[in-house]
Amino acid sequence: MNTTRLCVLGPSGRMGQAVLYAASARPELRIVATVDHAGAPGLGNTTADGVVSSTDLVHGLAACDVYVDFTTPEASAKAATAAIAVKRAAVIGTTGFTAEHDRAIAALAEVAPVVVAANFSLGLNLLIGLVGQAARVLGPDWDAEIVEVHHRLKRDAPSGTALALAHSIADGRGVDYDAVKRHARDGEVGARPPGEIGVVAVRGGDVVGEHTAMFLGTHERIELGHKATSRVIFAIGALRAASWVAKRPPGRYDMQDVLGLR
Ligand code: NAD
Repeated sequence: MNTTRLCVLGPSGRMGQAVLYAASARPELRIVATVDHAGAPGLGNTTADGVVSSTDLVHGLAACDVYVDFTTPEASAKAATAAIAVKRAAVIGTTGFTAEHDRAIAALAEVAPVVVAANFSLGLNLLIGLVGQAARVLGPDWDAEIVEVHHRLKRDAPSGTALALAHSIADGRGVDYDAVKRHARDGEVGARPPGEIGVVAVRGGDVVGEHTAMFLGTHERIELGHKATSRVIFAIGALRAASWVAKRPPGRYDMQDVLGLR
């Protein structure tokens, strides 16, 4: 059996833990390093068979075939820049990137295969395709709004997944998302302009992630939605991406590529 060697970044995090758990059930994947930042909980702890959590990013990247990154935008950009020297394949699930962070990932994708996805779940990736199809068929006369709900600790808003859904709607209509987006409404905002795509972020409790795309017509409404009840679905998808990306040529890919949905 061909084994893919993985380095997991952020092993003490919610997603890092889910990735380690899901990988333990996959004999074709082997964790060879786990890397966290100085001061992270669990440094020095055993995270996988014979692997101890450390801060040595250079060693972790050198030892693996693919690194899996669910951390912070700053940490992801730093890891991508470090991975250029060893042309390391990457699976990146961190969300909330600025253009500068994105440039670091784009530079890695010039020399190595990189899967970047705001949501690694199979169901959600299917939903992204479905909302694009709905937008294409319904056209801009049906007002499109996305509502997303996440746990109280989530740092970025709207969620990366909500933005992926919104972009899919814009693509389905053949418009530039930035020209029609509306991320919040407050006060005297006036009537809803035609063609606007709205996104509302709700935060609270321990909600893993819920997304609903509404298409509001005259006398009728369509709602397409997805609810995640465990983070493990994202980890399972990320590991599927890790097996897939190890054999690809350099470039930037997403889950639509991994799942053959494009
Ligand atoms: P978390 O805060 O629980 O974990 C973040 C981890 O990153 C921690 O272990 C932290 O120590 C580590 N970290 C911070 N700086 C680091 C550095 N310099 N080097 C290595 N590790 C570092 O967060 P979380 O809930 O696990 O989410 C992490 C990211 O993944 C967020 O951006 C979140 O939005 C995203 N996420 C993506 C998906 C998806 O499917 N793409 C699903 C869930 C969460």
